[in-house]
Amino acid sequence: AKQTGGDGTMIFTQSIRDILERKRLIERSLISAIKAHQFELYYQPKIGGLSRQVCGYEALVRWNHPELGMLSPTEFIPIAEETGAILPLGDWILEQACQYAKRLHDLGFHNLPVAVNVSAAQLSDPGWLDRLLLTLKSTQLPAHLIELELTETQLLNDIDHSTDIITYIRSLGIKVALDDFGTGYSSLSYLRNLPLDTLKIDRSFVSHLKEGQESYDLAIIKAVTALAKQLGIALVAEGVEQPTQEKILTDIGCDQLQGYLYSKPIPAKEFLALCLRSLAA
Ligand code: C2E
Ligand code: CA
Ligand code: CA
Ligand code: CA
Repeated sequence: AKQTGGDGTMIFTQSIRDILERKRLIERSLISAIKAHQFELYYQPKIGGLSRQVCGYEALVRWNHPELGMLSPTEFIPIAEETGAILPLGDWILEQACQYAKRLHDLGFHNLPVAVNVSAAQLSDPGWLDRLLLTLKSTQLPAHLIELELTETQLLNDIDHSTDIITYIRSLGIKVALDDFGTGYSSLSYLRNLPLDTLKIDRSFVSHLKEGQESYDLAIIKAVTALAKQLGIALVAEGVEQPTQEKILTDIGCDQLQGYLYSKPIPAKEFLALCLRSLAA
């Protein structure tokens, strides 16, 4: 870019160039990074609203980039989705998560499902389902120990295809969760037709909850909890950071809680230690 408008413009064009270069570097190195073992799955527990014990966990991918350092999935997942790299990366994530869940299963945790985030591009890839089934077979993970987390925007993209594929996935015993609920163009009517096991209410509703304060967010969470009960779906609240939020959510009857109050996403080894501690407690 030409430097025409004084210092401000120069800095501006410089930073745009930095952003684009960073993006290109990420694009270029995504595929080779899988083979180079630069990705790692972190795990974050879900806590039972009544039992207050670990009742499941979510796999969240991290990229330890040799030049850029630890990268957040909010930066590289959208790029992987754009370039199609999400297909091999998503396969790798599913395989890692299934292997890990099988290991926990064999250590005696027979009832701790792993939740894996799945992108729209994976869902609409014709070969994806077969590869998922192969992964389940090769890892010998019981199907009920995996839950796929999908977002509304993804599902509404092609609601008929989504409904078909979810119905089939669930017929195999695999669970399906609707992630970030409330952030898309939620129309409650489609919920009736979507066969789901779990609703995850988005962190943005949880973060504003305060003790003794009636708010729209509280009203929405109450309504969603009632709706989930009615539909026979489990409800998970994301982004629980404070004890007062925990109290409000358990009073309302929210089934599962997830957030920094219990644990940040942590490496596999640490999560295993956390499970063993929780078992001993
Ligand atoms: P998500 O699926 O909604 O995951 C929840 C995000 O909230 C995670 O960020 C998690 O670390 C963060 N979080 C959990 N508890 C709290 C809390 O109490 N407070 C706050 N402020 N944040 C909390 P993360 O790991 O950076 O992941 C961001 C997003 O990237 C995920 O949102 C998901 O959309 C995507 N993502 C992560 N891993 C994968 C993956 O393996 N595959 C795909 N397709 N997407 C992934
Ligand atoms: Ca998720
Ligand atoms: Ca979420
Ligand atoms: Ca999200």
